[in-house]
Amino acid sequence: MNCLFCKIAKGEVPAEIIYEDEKFLVFKDIHPKAPIHLLIVPKKHIPSINHLELRDKELMGELFLLSQKIAREKEVAKKGYKLVLNVGRGGGQLIDHLHLHLLAGWTPPTHHPSEKERNIPGMP
Ligand code: AMP
Ligand code: ZN
Repeated sequence: MNCLFCKIAKGEVPAEIIYEDEKFLVFKDIHPKAPIHLLIVPKKHIPSINHLELRDKELMGELFLLSQKIAREKEVAKKGYKLVLNVGRGGGQLIDHLHLHLLAGWTPPTHHPSEKERNIPGMP
């Protein structure tokens, strides 16, 4: 299948992987929109939220629990972070393999995000 994130999961395309287990891969976004910009990716090829099936419900729960774990490990859990899930072209999704963006690391911690930073990555 000609899917970039499947290729990364299979090791056929390089990425800066920071976490991997049997079901998930976490790697750095190649065009970061925040000081910390990670993609949390189920290895299973699900094109988008629109394609979720009932049998994926546990996997989706695990996806969010993993985002919590990664946020803690990156020491941004307390300061706060942004989780973004783009769905479809109109929602800014460019890669048709479901993934959760974790964006964080703005300083100072009391910083109020600018209009630009509040924008969802990939949105026009
Ligand atoms: P989305 O627009 O939600 O589909 O997000 C796709 C994200 O994948 C974008 O933020 C891209 O910068 C990122 N991206 C594209 N190619 C790569 C790659 N080879 N390695 C890491 N991130 C990538
Ligand atoms: Zn895929």
